[in-house]
This record gives sequence, C-alpha cells and structure tokens, in this order.
Amino acid sequence: MESLKELYKLGPGPSSSHTVAPWRAAQMFKERFPDAVAFDVELYGSLSLTGKGHFTDQILIRTFSPKPCKIYFRLNWEHPFDNGLIIKAYDVRSNPIGQWTVFSLGGGSIKVLDEDFDFQRQIYPQQSLSEIYKEVIETHHSIPAYVLHYEKDVEAHLMDVLEGMFKAVRRGLETTGILPGLLEIPRVAKSLYLQAMSKDDLSAQNRLKLVAYAYANNEENAACGMVVTAPTLGASGVMASLMYHLYTDIGISKHKLVQALMVGGIFGNVIKENATISGAIGGCQAEIGSACSMAAAALAYVNGLPLELIEYAAEIAMEHHLGLTCDPVGGYVIIPCIERNGAAVLRSIDAVMMAETVGKAKPNRVSFDMVVRTMNYTGKKIALELRETSLGGLATEINIHPIQE
Ligand code: SF4
Repeated sequence: MESLKELYKLGPGPSSSHTVAPWRAAQMFKERFPDAVAFDVELYGSLSLTGKGHFTDQILIRTFSPKPCKIYFRLNWEHPFDNGLIIKAYDVRSNPIGQWTVFSLGGGSIKVLDEDFDFQRQIYPQQSLSEIYKEVIETHHSIPAYVLHYEKDVEAHLMDVLEGMFKAVRRGLETTGILPGLLEIPRVAKSLYLQAMSKDDLSAQNRLKLVAYAYANNEENAACGMVVTAPTLGASGVMASLMYHLYTDIGISKHKLVQALMVGGIFGNVIKENATISGAIGGCQAEIGSACSMAAAALAYVNGLPLELIEYAAEIAMEHHLGLTCDPVGGYVIIPCIERNGAAVLRSIDAVMMAETVGKAKPNRVSFDMVVRTMNYTGKKIALELRETSLGGLATEINIHPIQE
C-alpha cells in the first residue's frame, strides 16, 4: 500500500479525480517542460463528460497561466482506465516538444504512462486488513504504532491535514451566498449551525452540528476551495466534519486526532489497494462508502474500542453503502454530494454504536476484507451512466448541462 500522504492531500475542489489529479499532473508537466510556451490538454472518459461541471478546464487553464492552454473534451479513449488526460507542450514555433498520458485513479492519485514517480512507491508490504491486523497484533499492538513503523515522518503531514480540514470547515461556516455553476444552490452550512445551536437537546445539537460541518466542508469544495481528500474531495466532508466535531465540541486533542487519521487512513488505504475510491470506477459507494468506513474506524479508535470492533464499525459503514451510485447533477459536486456527506457522517456514528452493541452480542460474520471485495464486485456491475458520467439517475431528472466549448 502507498503512503498515507498519498491518501490525505490538500487540493483545490470540487473533485479529487477532476481537479486535484489534473492540477498535480499539470504542475509536474510544467516543471518537466519549462521552455514550453503553450499547452493543450485532451480530457477523456468521466473527465470529458463531467469535466466542465467539475471545473477541470478552469483548474488546468489557471495552472498553466500565464502560458495559454487549450482544453479539448474527447470521447474515444483507448486506455484501460476510466479517467484520463493527454497533456502536450509546444515551443515558440508551435512544434510539439513533450506529451504525457495521465490516468486519474481516484482521490487525486495519478499515474503517468511510462514515467516512474516516488509518490507511487509501496510503503506498506501488507495489502489486506487481515494481513495488517496480524502484524499489528503480533508486533505493534496498535494501528498508529504500525503506521509509524512504516512512515516515521507522517505525523507532521497529518497535523497539516487536520489543520486543512479545520480551515475548510471554518471557512464554510462563515461563508454565505450562491455556489458556483448553473444550479444556483445557496450555501446553508451557517444556517444549519445556527439551528443546531438553538437546540436544547445535546444529542440533537451534536448531530445537526456534524451535518453543518459536513455541509461547510463540501460547500467550500463545491466553490473550488482548498479541501483535504479523505479519501476523495467529493466525500471529504465526512472525515472533516467528524474531526472538527471531536476537536471543538468534544475536546479530543489534536495528537489523538492525528492517530485517528492514521486508523481511518489504513482502512481507506485497504479499500484503495483492493477495490477503488473513485466514483468513476465504482460509483459513490467507493467514495462516500469509503469515507464513512474511514470515519467509523477513526471514531471507534477514539472511543477506545478494540481492534475487532474498529473493524466491525468500518465494515458496517461500507456494507450499508453497497450499490450506491454516482449521478452528480450537471456534473457539479453539489447534488447529491453535499447532502450525502451530511448523511454519511451521521451513519458513521451509528455504525460505531452498532459495532459496540451488536458486536458484544455476537461475532461479525462479514470481515472488512470481504466487504471491500464485495464493493469492488458491485462497482463493476454499476452501469456507466451511474459512475460519474452524469448520463443517468438524478443527473437526468434535473436536466442541467454546462456547455463544453
Ligand atoms: S455522487 Fe458521490 S461519487 Fe459522485 S461526485 Fe458526488 S460524492 Fe463523488
């Protein structure tokens, strides 16, 4: 498995696959060809079909600025990845001087064809949760100790990740107005937070605060703000909301929350390694289901549950998202995405409560590795129309299509 630094990354919204991945690729390409005077980018697959609504063209033009960059939305893609782009560089005489074929793998991760970069190094030798748990039980005795054994320098990065999450939630709670794009959806995080504060019942107040924090993070994401992939940007509000709540409302220390990020991150990494975290590949179960699993594992760890109940909480969180489709209206990461983050953070809390109670009454028959394999299998059965193409589902019920010039 790759580094947790490759799972948790700060980047521009609204989509890890559609903005963070092209942004990273464009930055690296610019550095590789510093003498280029102009660039072209061809977008393929889901990047072509929903790139306009996800602002892929704008992030690429901004990244190459002040040098000109032309964007082409293409359909005939010959590579075995659902999302990709071809970047070309030109000299002063308009001769091509460089070309990269880039695959967007989900969560802002990229693979550049015929290139070898450090960030794709395998840091952890284990691949499945059962292999990881075996090593944790025999040698390290906790998931954070296991993480620090393989990634000695990861704590500082995760502290930055935590701060990035807090900043995104705070900005979202302070900002009102209309989200960018043709849907003209108003931001409501601040209103939800004020409604939460007016509730006398502490449990109801906390649940609504969690929803408000998830909305705050994902409204920032939809407005192209800087947000942390966890594991993706579309689903980033689940972990961000939980972390912010545990810190500001419950008083959990940042040190403990960094450990919770390690625990959630290991579950996210197992999903990434054995299935997918990309909505374009596996539907929304791969994004929101994964985020909910990560949050459930993180919260179970903070609550002091033993390893088997941490696994049970993460398993419940994924099992009950199986089959969830990705049908973003107009290609924007707004409907159903923002509301879905609010629903999923509540579900992560319930998954922990159920693991703690049901798990004490009987052993769980479904392991986390089983549910990850099932998610992968289910994702392959989801029709292309319901995998981040905006060609079906809610995306065709509400008929809005940004123009692709
Ligand atoms: S529906 Fe889910 S997978 Fe699709 S863009 Fe929205 S959050 Fe991501």
